[in-house]
Amino acid sequence: MQTDKTSCDHIVSTALSQCLGKPLHTLFQVSTSAALVEGLYQGAVKVARLLSHGDFGLGTFIDLDGEMVILDGVCYKVSFDGTVSRVEGDRLIPYAVITRFNAEFSEHHPKLTNFSELVAACDQLRESENVFYAFRVDGTFSLIKTRVMKPVPEGTGLKAAASAQQEFLFQQREGTLVGLWSPGFAGSFSVPGYHFHFLSTDRKRGGHVLELRADDVTIGGCAMHEMHVSLPETEEFLKADLSRDPNNDLANAERNHER
Ligand SMILES: [Zn+2]
Repeated sequence: MQTDKTSCDHIVSTALSQCLGKPLHTLFQVSTSAALVEGLYQGAVKVARLLSHGDFGLGTFIDLDGEMVILDGVCYKVSFDGTVSRVEGDRLIPYAVITRFNAEFSEHHPKLTNFSELVAACDQLRESENVFYAFRVDGTFSLIKTRVMKPVPEGTGLKAAASAQQEFLFQQREGTLVGLWSPGFAGSFSVPGYHFHFLSTDRKRGGHVLELRADDVTIGGCAMHEMHVSLPETEEFLKADLSRDPNNDLANAERNHER
């Protein structure tokens, strides 16, 4: 427990899950969306510790330097120059959400013509507005528009940081969307609603998804009823004023500005 800075609960539940062959659908999160909105982007947790809590997730890096995609147990960084690289276990990260993905339901769609259709399809698969969901979307993306954050000076708020983002438009890319859905009541620590990051099958393209068109799509997902939030022990987090409601700034920073 001391070596990994992990709780006793986590070690015991992971061991039981492996022994009984029963997947754990627990969401593990580092820091909060309110902290991001206020410009707290310093390293809090190592990637290796993050990966001990799951194999599927998304997040960001120190100083908002790129977009994080965790897929099949590997952590990738999409940089603002468009390149994708694997992230080493000893790197510290400021914010991420991860789970162990295991589809409880799945559905095939011959075609999705835009982001709204993806949202509607996922909405159909959700049974509740009050628990968290993970969605894995595999397909051929005839069009996908992503954005990648550019690194910003310490303390820059998320809204201002998002105005300097880099946008990409890719065509005919096979790939996967790593998606999470969070309930509205979770707005002070999660990003409410859907949040998708893209990674191409060749692991060369990616980013935070703004728009898409796709063929031969499989949407798999699972509900998550438990969440573990690891709050940073950094001085800046401990002293920050996080009382402001982050929802307007989050909506502004995370959505497609043309819609
Ligand atoms: Zn994102």
